[in-house]
Amino acid sequence: MHCDAGSEAMLAESGVLAYTAFAAAGSVAGGREMMMLTGELTWIGLAIAVIVGWLAGAAGNWAADILPHLGVDRGQADRRGFPLWHYLTLPWYPFRKGVCPHCGELCPRRAPSLEVGTIAVFTLAWLRVPGDLTLLLVTWCYAIFLLTVLVIDLEHRRVLNVMLIPAAVAALLFSLLPGTPQPLNALLGAAVGLGVFLLLALIGRGALGAGDVKLAAVIGLMTGYPGVLTALVIGIALGGVAALALLITRRAGRKSFMAYAPYLSLGALAVLLGLLGGR
Ligand SMILES: [Zn+2]
Repeated sequence: MHCDAGSEAMLAESGVLAYTAFAAAGSVAGGREMMMLTGELTWIGLAIAVIVGWLAGAAGNWAADILPHLGVDRGQADRRGFPLWHYLTLPWYPFRKGVCPHCGELCPRRAPSLEVGTIAVFTLAWLRVPGDLTLLLVTWCYAIFLLTVLVIDLEHRRVLNVMLIPAAVAALLFSLLPGTPQPLNALLGAAVGLGVFLLLALIGRGALGAGDVKLAAVIGLMTGYPGVLTALVIGIALGGVAALALLITRRAGRKSFMAYAPYLSLGALAVLLGLLGGR
């Protein structure tokens, strides 16, 4: 077999590449111990988290553009035809004042913000959920759901059933996986979330919407019990601080309606990412 130096180098290179890819997959799956072996592997894992986070952020942009208009506004719902590049706004947004180079439409500032936010949360999850690829993927799924709920509630003051129902089904299925709150625990979390927020909604007389109550139940499925209590307490505290800030800066009256889902989502993310130590 003829084999000159060039093809030998190529063979060696592809061998190194294959090994690196294998090791990267192993490092994501095998956890911190393996990643500690060489510095490069950490960077590959980080790169994967950033790229997957960015793509997930684009999916969130698509959902935030389309889903609120489903069944309401055909014109907006038909905007599904845009290519992926329309939703990956980071490379061009700052240089074109938000005007899409592909279709000339003005994209909301939310688009690059959600991309950056998702990359940050996905990277954080990769750092915080070591050694378990399954758990990392589940956490990523929950994270993009919660971040998309956050932006849609800010923009439309709505938490969409079309997102809540699939999320509830997914969380129930995920509860069968090792490492997640197990089915009974997830259901207990959902019951507690639903109960507490139903009570708060009745006391608050309209301060909380039905969407917030349903979201609290879905968060309970994701975090289980007692994680759900931590998530809701953080959410309520953040919402309280935000309400106070709005009142002080007089951007809202005592009676004005506030989006609550963003704070619940942040509370849930804090628990899912183990930001309070332990999961
Ligand atoms: Zn476009």
